[in-house]
Amino acid sequence: MYFTETHEAFRESVKRFIDKDVNPRMDEWEEKTVPLHDLFKKMGDLGFLGIRYDPKYGGQGLDYWYETVLLEELGHMHGMGVATAVAVQTNMATPAIAAHGSDYLKDKYLRGAISGDLVAAIAVTEPDAGSDVFAIKTKAVKDGDYYTINGSKTFITNGTQADFLTLLARTSEEPGYHSFGLFVVPTNLPGFHVSKKLDKVGLRSSDTAELFFDNVAVPASNLIGGEGEGFIIQMKQFQHERFAILPGTHVAVTDMINMTVDYLRQRVVFGKPLVTKQVLRHRLAGWLTRNECLKQLTYHIVRMKMEGQDATKEISMGKLIAGQLMAEVASGCLQMFGGMGFMNETLISRHFRDSRILSIGGGADEVMCEIIARTSGF
Ligand SMILES: Cc1cc2nc3c(=O)[nH]c(=O)nc-3n(C[C@H](O)[C@H](O)[C@H](O)COP(=O)(O)OP(=O)(O)OC[C@H]3O[C@@H](n4cnc5c(N)ncnc54)[C@H](O)[C@@H]3O)c2cc1C
Repeated sequence: MYFTETHEAFRESVKRFIDKDVNPRMDEWEEKTVPLHDLFKKMGDLGFLGIRYDPKYGGQGLDYWYETVLLEELGHMHGMGVATAVAVQTNMATPAIAAHGSDYLKDKYLRGAISGDLVAAIAVTEPDAGSDVFAIKTKAVKDGDYYTINGSKTFITNGTQADFLTLLARTSEEPGYHSFGLFVVPTNLPGFHVSKKLDKVGLRSSDTAELFFDNVAVPASNLIGGEGEGFIIQMKQFQHERFAILPGTHVAVTDMINMTVDYLRQRVVFGKPLVTKQVLRHRLAGWLTRNECLKQLTYHIVRMKMEGQDATKEISMGKLIAGQLMAEVASGCLQMFGGMGFMNETLISRHFRDSRILSIGGGADEVMCEIIARTSGF
């Protein structure tokens, strides 16, 4: 309906890559973290990392439907950790550079991220500021041709392997939203430290880090947009981040349900396959119905984006549903697997661990509800 033969051919190429180069290695990467330079170089060579970006900087110059195809296929990965790492590179740390960066920043950092030569991370959250982004304390003080950055960031995905960070910092103590700058911060600068690699419940293939900045001198030319624009630019960038969660979620939910139905067909309990039990069939049918709503909302958002409309409310609604449905289905499917569901050898156990992050990361459910209320006029 929305996807042409060319979209489907692109889908096939992403699928082949995931089947051959990702899923067979997921168990290994869950143990010791995905090597991002290796993975991103392969993805960059295949043209997967710059789908919407300008061909002038190595991108494919395609539309949101192609981006949706890529993001949907990421949902087939056997674990959300690698998909998250990829989405950081394509939808969380680079949209602001593409939309507001100078030619210099695009040529050096966007081009590097698209080709897979550079690993990117988005650095907003701090130990004392997550949901309340306005409360960040990391400072960037202008000193001639440089900004000196001091502070710390935490929960940063790709943080131990990143070549550059897209980092939000306070540039003045003035009240209001115009006291922030969004910077490209190379991680090879003196004073940058990875203070800790964090140990997580799920997304174990993805690396997440606490970062420390001790008088890091960043060239003023690394500022994205104008000095007072960082907060607003990052709020726009969050829309790409939150949208990126939706296509993969409806696909992952479908996969979880399919793998559970396969199990229920062959598992005989009280003399009959479990799939014949009405209570289980109806639970699965309810999830499929809500998942179809999520899928259609996702496509509605893509249509809005294609028409240049502001989809902030719809994206927030989508993220809210996606996080809740993913966690409910992962937990409910694990239950249907019985004891086998609690074994690490069963894939549903990984989905159960990974799913919990969706209602927290990139803006918690409660933050999504606040945005939905505000954009609905109350
Ligand atoms: C695995 C992982 C990866 C991440 N990757 C990144 C990354 O790459 N870059 C980055 O910058 N950040 C990243 N984050 C941070 C993530 O975006 C934050 O954890 C999230 O925004 C919530 O912030 P917080 O943890 O400080 O929770 P807090 O702000 O302390 O909130 C705690 C809880 O309070 C509730 N709450 C919040 N606001 C309200 C409200 N208004 N009303 C009622 N209840 C509320 C919510 O349930 C929330 O989860 C990551 C986090 C995790 C766990």
